[in-house]
Amino acid sequence: MILGPHLTISNGFLALGKEGLSINANTAQYFSRNPRGSALRKRDEQDEEAFLELAATHSFGPLLCHAPYTYNPASAKPEVRTFAREAMEVDLLRLLPGAMYNFHPGSHVGQGVEVGTEHIVRILDELLPMVPHVKLTLEAMAGKGSEIGSRFEELAAIRKALGNPDNLGICIDTCHLWEAGYDIKENLDGVLDEFEDIVGVKNIWAVHLNDSKNPLGAHKDRHEKIGQGSLGIETFRSVINHPLLKNLPFYLETPNDVEGYGEEIALLRSIADV
Ligand SMILES: [Zn+2]
Repeated sequence: MILGPHLTISNGFLALGKEGLSINANTAQYFSRNPRGSALRKRDEQDEEAFLELAATHSFGPLLCHAPYTYNPASAKPEVRTFAREAMEVDLLRLLPGAMYNFHPGSHVGQGVEVGTEHIVRILDELLPMVPHVKLTLEAMAGKGSEIGSRFEELAAIRKALGNPDNLGICIDTCHLWEAGYDIKENLDGVLDEFEDIVGVKNIWAVHLNDSKNPLGAHKDRHEKIGQGSLGIETFRSVINHPLLKNLPFYLETPNDVEGYGEEIALLRSIADV
């Protein structure tokens, strides 16, 4: 099972890789830059090469670079959209080989899903052809506020407007699906059937594993530790062993320090079939 935590990149990629290895992870997610600021780390090629060597030696799955939440490609304000596009472009051109790039579709802030979707599509139409070798993932959201992408139809609409490009997939999130109203606890197969009909399961390229602090359909997006929220450990047993999902990379975004992530990784590996 490819499984890793969300770690900081502030000490470099090699440090991130070693930290992951120390808790039995074989991938990790990190923010491209500080989620509250926009400062960029200076690139360190030696560090990047050392990480890639470590990752190859230990058969790591793809790193997932997560765009900060402050990017809103669906914003009503042109300057906010321009910032999102320019920052994503810089992030994408700096990615390590083999890394994937995950981002939130954004919030339409009252313009409506259709107008917000047009903004997102315009930005992706520029960015996707620039990085044909990079796998980008649109994240399926909880539907907090005016977030776009909490309905499968909204994710499919973005892909379709772009001509279903080869380098744009979906990152599902167990907490977000649940809080968006998709009952993966009692009916995971039914939810995946619905996803297959609307978006296509082959377009799921990454999975965020998070329990939820809230009931089904809450639209709040509050992550909880694995097994300690309303989804419960049996939901995670079903998700990580599901034939359609088990070979995908899984990333934890639970409220944890590194030690806590280590405990979750041990727990999940103990209930994985393989
Ligand atoms: Zn996210």
